[in-house]
Amino acid sequence: MPVETHLYELLDVTFDASEEDIKKAYRKKAKEHHPDKNINDPEAGQKFQEMAAAYEILSDGNKRAVYDTHGMEGLSGPGSGGHGMEAEEIFAQFFGRQMFGFDFGPDARRGKGEDSIIPHEVTLEDLYNGKSIKMNMEKEVVCAVCKGSGARGNAKPKPCSTCDGQGWTRIKTRLPSGAYGMARARCTDCHGHGEKLKEKERCKKCKGEKTIKEKTRQEIFVEKGMADRQRIVLAGAGDQQPGIPAGDVIFLLKVLPHESFERSGDDLLTHVTITLSEALLGFSRIILTHLDGRGVKLTTPPGKVIKPQDSIVLRGEGMPVYRRPDEKGDLYVIFDVEMPDDQWLKTVDVKAVEAVLPPKRLDVEPHPEVVDEADFEESDIVDFGEGNDDDWEDDDDDDDDDDEPDCRPQ
Ligand SMILES: [Zn+2]
Ligand SMILES: [Zn+2]
Repeated sequence: MPVETHLYELLDVTFDASEEDIKKAYRKKAKEHHPDKNINDPEAGQKFQEMAAAYEILSDGNKRAVYDTHGMEGLSGPGSGGHGMEAEEIFAQFFGRQMFGFDFGPDARRGKGEDSIIPHEVTLEDLYNGKSIKMNMEKEVVCAVCKGSGARGNAKPKPCSTCDGQGWTRIKTRLPSGAYGMARARCTDCHGHGEKLKEKERCKKCKGEKTIKEKTRQEIFVEKGMADRQRIVLAGAGDQQPGIPAGDVIFLLKVLPHESFERSGDDLLTHVTITLSEALLGFSRIILTHLDGRGVKLTTPPGKVIKPQDSIVLRGEGMPVYRRPDEKGDLYVIFDVEMPDDQWLKTVDVKAVEAVLPPKRLDVEPHPEVVDEADFEESDIVDFGEGNDDDWEDDDDDDDDDDEPDCRPQ
């Protein structure tokens, strides 16, 4: 049991909850407590922030381990800050910026524009080798013609009558729970500006919108050793709005599963298939192609028998350490031993093979009094337990994206 339980209680999960359980719990709780849906509850914002903080810690294996052993104190030491996500960013990752038509709008608390979070898929090769990625994007920039006033010449806008100049109206909305609630929605008449210009008073270039869409080219550097869900922040590169500094563009890395390697921290894991002959007599050959295309050659020590699922560690062949790329983790190799098939058996002198192999086993001990003869029938293990009446309930889980990566032999 962890030394502190507060975060688990916040999300209403057990101490042994899986990452998936925590994700589900947060998804549910965050929707419930989002401040936009609890406008009459002054504490909703606080709860929402706490929920996001709890999720951020419990969903991160390392932080969760620290929390379990040292509590919040362990997490508040030097160097632990700075990577914390804003509650709304975490929320936005889950639901997208415009949940149910609400708009988060400019972040008044921080006095800057909205951040754009862009999920970006990378391969394990990208994280091993590092990569520069250029991409074309579109962003809002302040209109150069009217300098963000939206007006033609000296025309002055009038307060919007639909929203009384507030920029938002209250609408009745249906919550995921099925109940109805009131929520703030951006005024559709003035698009949240709170004021309007007559058609002919609007700036020709931006049509009174104050900003225009502009194509930009962004370049990001995926550094060696970066992790899944790590963020690359381009400060101030987000959408512009008149009067406040632009928000950031945040690339959120999502690592695609690799067909040969599995990663845990700075270590890698892979499977290598060897033959029975190699398992018994040893070998000296290139056993795998690494993430940078390099071959890795291995020579077994003389007299070493390798059993199925035996593992070895290749020091310094793991992932580069983030920000210290000269250091690397380790590569664990699990041996799958491939047995020869029936066809092989037909081609060899069975008596000669028997003579060199270790002897067969005797009957089980103690010798049972009653002994039945059984028939040899090949089976498929998935049939095990079939024919039972109680069906397994279908898991309605729809997101299978967190499955462990396939580790296939090379
Ligand atoms: Zn303009
Ligand atoms: Zn309005």
